[in-house]
Amino acid sequence: MSNVTGFACVICDKTYPADFAGYVCTDHGNEGILDVRYDYERIASSWTKKDLDANRNRTMWRYRPLLPVRPDASVPPLTVGGTPMYDAAPLAADLGIAKVWVKDEGRQPTASLKDRASAMAVVKAQERRAGVITTASTGNAAAALAGISASVGQKNVIFVPKTAPEAKIAQLLAYGSTVALVNGNYNASFELCMLAAEAYGWYNRNTGFNPFMTEGKKTAGFEILEDLEWSTPDAIFVSVGDGSIIGGVHKAMRDALSLGWIDEPPRLYGIQSAGSDYMVQAYESGDDVLTKPPIAADTVADSISADLPRDRIKAMRAVTETGGAYIRVSDDDILDAVPAMAGGAGVFAEPAGAAAYAGLIAAVDRGLVSPSDEVVVLSTGSGLKDVASAMKAVTAAGTKPMYIDPTLDALKEALGHQ
Ligand SMILES: *Cc1c(COP(=O)(O)O)cnc(C)c1O
Ligand SMILES: [Zn+2]
Repeated sequence: MSNVTGFACVICDKTYPADFAGYVCTDHGNEGILDVRYDYERIASSWTKKDLDANRNRTMWRYRPLLPVRPDASVPPLTVGGTPMYDAAPLAADLGIAKVWVKDEGRQPTASLKDRASAMAVVKAQERRAGVITTASTGNAAAALAGISASVGQKNVIFVPKTAPEAKIAQLLAYGSTVALVNGNYNASFELCMLAAEAYGWYNRNTGFNPFMTEGKKTAGFEILEDLEWSTPDAIFVSVGDGSIIGGVHKAMRDALSLGWIDEPPRLYGIQSAGSDYMVQAYESGDDVLTKPPIAADTVADSISADLPRDRIKAMRAVTETGGAYIRVSDDDILDAVPAMAGGAGVFAEPAGAAAYAGLIAAVDRGLVSPSDEVVVLSTGSGLKDVASAMKAVTAAGTKPMYIDPTLDALKEALGHQ
């Protein structure tokens, strides 16, 4: 038995029992995403921060009492979670704020935060003895599902836009997935994957549909809190596509509040590109995300390109319930943030990861962050995921290598020495 008591629809709050086999609210269809509920009293009575201290398992599964898995469930062998969070003093000095931590999710086995959700998906699929597991993705969720599936021999079928960065497609093929490169964007890939899952009865990992993905992603939030010894930072900056990561971070904060492990949640800031700013638009105009129509998204940060953020209800609550905000940054700002974060913290992120840092810069400019604030930037994916964009970023920044002949004289000349 896990500590799950059931599920509740994010729209109507209708509850479903812990053994409910569906994915979404029967009254609200695909919009009716479910929130997993736990027996916090039971958890608190049998599990303490001391137990956690004594646990030498550094993976995401160290939080098992707060996860929708049985205590004895076997989990994939890849090391998911336990990513480092660095005190980036040069960035804090640059911005004139007290503290900037950068949590590097590029260190996951497939090099993005998505491993946390995909590991959870594989456990749930195997629980149901699913023959095939499937997902649509801009690339990283797919790479994560492919890699984690490979580690346990789980068949999987992947739908990604054919424009996904080459490194992500290479990962899928190397991990041995059945790969559909869709002649369309993420939204089109998502719709096709949903149809296929239904038609073939495949286990469906899709973001903003499968309720367990939030539960996997929230472990990043637990790690932030645990690294800070359960004192909360003032704010956490998260880039937003479907809104599942920010919803997961919020869920971690709510879980920790429910257990009495923290007193107050940090402000959560959702960062979007100006070319994919559905949530920012809704936040600024007060539009209901349930009825607001899709936009036509286009951004260099492929991982946060979403016409219709699938987890938008949880994503909006993450910000409004914590006193944060949604912030828009330009693609140029995002590209600038790649070398800024790499050079100032040693963390090389793909554009969607660096977008969180671009958002912090914008927030400081707008006075949303004060000089005494201690903030976390969640760097969601590795820069090696999208080398073409990284080259674009350093070129735009005017960074050039020296092209020289292999002689000391040539080097001296290039360095401008006599
Ligand atoms: C998926 C992803 C995001 C955005 O996460 P959502 O849950 O879609 O909001 C941000 N950065 C990277 C690197 C990602 O892979
Ligand atoms: Zn409902």
